[in-house]
Amino acid sequence: MIKIKNYVFGTIDKFKYPFIARLIPDNPDRKIGITYYFLVEIEEKYKNYIPVYAHELVHVVQFWRNPIKHIWYKDIKFNKFYELDIESEAYALQILVDFDFDLNLISNSVIESVAKNIKNTKSYRLNDILLDVIKARLWYYIKKWKNENKHLAYKITLTAHNLNSALVKR
Ligand SMILES: [Zn+2]
Repeated sequence: MIKIKNYVFGTIDKFKYPFIARLIPDNPDRKIGITYYFLVEIEEKYKNYIPVYAHELVHVVQFWRNPIKHIWYKDIKFNKFYELDIESEAYALQILVDFDFDLNLISNSVIESVAKNIKNTKSYRLNDILLDVIKARLWYYIKKWKNENKHLAYKITLTAHNLNSALVKR
């Protein structure tokens, strides 16, 4: 990773998913991290919380997987099912990292509170989606990260740790 002033330039999984990242001041009105396509911003307060880095880096991967679809459904013609999918996928990895990839430690109440957060966060616009649908989506992606996307899950987690060191070291 290369650091120029406050920006870190990096990639996930060799050169497949490039990104730029920086820390931003704490702001109670914003989410704790935010990703605009491939620009990742993490609030100062959460600068050492690796699961949030993993969450935001999943959004970078989602952008590069299909940039046109991503821009279209997020910014041109908002699609709540696309939004539900990308947030569930990002939160699923965030939860796994938070619980050291140990499925046995992930309780139903953890899933419930994350699902509520997804449902109630204004900027997601998902409040009319049933909580059970969100919970099912989270479990679907948790299992996907544990099975067919395992390799990428570890690559993203590794990048999350490296990015944390690059951003926090002065
Ligand atoms: Zn997100």
